[in-house]
Amino acid sequence: MLFRFATFFIAGFAGLLIVAGLISREYAAWGIIFGVVVWLLWDVWRARIFDSALRAAQGGDALPSYTGWWGNMLDRVRRMLRSKNEEVAASERRMTEFLSAIQASPTGVVLLDAAQRIEWCNQTAAHQLGLDVQRDVLQHIGNLVRQPDFANYLSAGNYDHEVVLAAATSNAQRPIKISVQLHPYGEGRRLMLTRDVTALQLAEAQRRDFVANVSHEIRTPLTVLSGFIETLQNLPLDEAQRNRYLGLMAQQSQRMQALVSDLLTLSRLEGSPVPNATDKVTVKSLLDQCEQDARALMHMEPKLQNHALRLHFGYAQESDEASVILGAQTELLSAAGNLVNNAVRYTPAGGKVDVQWTLLQDGRGELRVMDTGPGIAPEHLPRLTERFYRVDRSRSRETGGTGLGLAITKHVAQRHGGELRIESVVGQGSTFILTIGANRIQPQ
Ligand code: ADP
Repeated sequence: MLFRFATFFIAGFAGLLIVAGLISREYAAWGIIFGVVVWLLWDVWRARIFDSALRAAQGGDALPSYTGWWGNMLDRVRRMLRSKNEEVAASERRMTEFLSAIQASPTGVVLLDAAQRIEWCNQTAAHQLGLDVQRDVLQHIGNLVRQPDFANYLSAGNYDHEVVLAAATSNAQRPIKISVQLHPYGEGRRLMLTRDVTALQLAEAQRRDFVANVSHEIRTPLTVLSGFIETLQNLPLDEAQRNRYLGLMAQQSQRMQALVSDLLTLSRLEGSPVPNATDKVTVKSLLDQCEQDARALMHMEPKLQNHALRLHFGYAQESDEASVILGAQTELLSAAGNLVNNAVRYTPAGGKVDVQWTLLQDGRGELRVMDTGPGIAPEHLPRLTERFYRVDRSRSRETGGTGLGLAITKHVAQRHGGELRIESVVGQGSTFILTIGANRIQPQ
């Protein structure tokens, strides 16, 4: 400001001196006016430069440096511009980060305008609904997702609930289900969220099947039992008949007991942490116990009596007999026992069951249970470890099966770092291979 006043007075004074010196002292006052007019013209010229500098800065050029009052103003504007630019850059950065976060989200996000046209969508939604992130912008969502359920949902206008659709990539072999829900926001806009619910729906279907299966499995022996009880109550039976009925009743209650016990084992396996790697189980004790149980089963189970089977337990190499598994004794016994008992139950008289333990080169352990039974058709193999899945329901029941044995065995194998493999040829026999992870085998 000082500079401005100084130049103003200097211009007036200079005008005065010039006119008084060159023309006459009489016109000195005009000289002041002349000086002031020149100063004003100079100031307007500087203002024009300031204005054009500002215009240039709007176009992205840097502001020039300038002295005096206009220069101070330019500096102030420069500082304002710089802080505004920084704010814009920061909010652009935040916006980019925000969009990348939404891109990375496993939830699909589609922004719809008031006319239900796509404004923006992330890759997840595009993949699930078969949209093109760029090409489909401003397209009506109803024209792109053409499933009747979605069209009804969109037109009904009640968005309190979700609608489940087939994903764009869904097919008969690999059905994929997508849940879609709209959430109104702003002025008539809608946020559309999509998520993959295939696993959820599958788990729900499995839960429903499981409850239905358990109820069915328990109801059958219960019906038989209550029928016998009624008979015993109402009919005058002799001693032999009574004993026969009581025997059959005991059989049914044993079946229920076996079922409940397998269900408890399964739920314990699913709900507990993996077994301690500090507990040691010797393979020899495991196989000895399995052999004892299998022989007992052959004597106890009425259908298996007089069932001449050759039962052989052995080791691939002599040194394998000393193998020690780091895991839970009860779990391993139930897994190996299930395989051996199945082989005994399903192999007809005159057949052979061979059980062999091998320490593999890569450090894993492998229990092979081979039988010369009826074998299993290839289409059943992938489903055998599902709960309650049986190839021959009546054969399983006749020999006291619950349909849960292989599901338990598979769980135990996985909890010990291994797996359950099944190889079988119809008419020739089956081999069930239970592997134990190398980290669960004590180094020798
Ligand atoms: P189950 O109690 O019915 O034996 P599992 O889960 O142990 O239930 O076995 C599932 C089904 O697998 C059985 O019902 C049977 O059809 C088939 N299976 C299991 N082991 C054998 C085997 N060694 N030979 C032939 N079929 C078998």
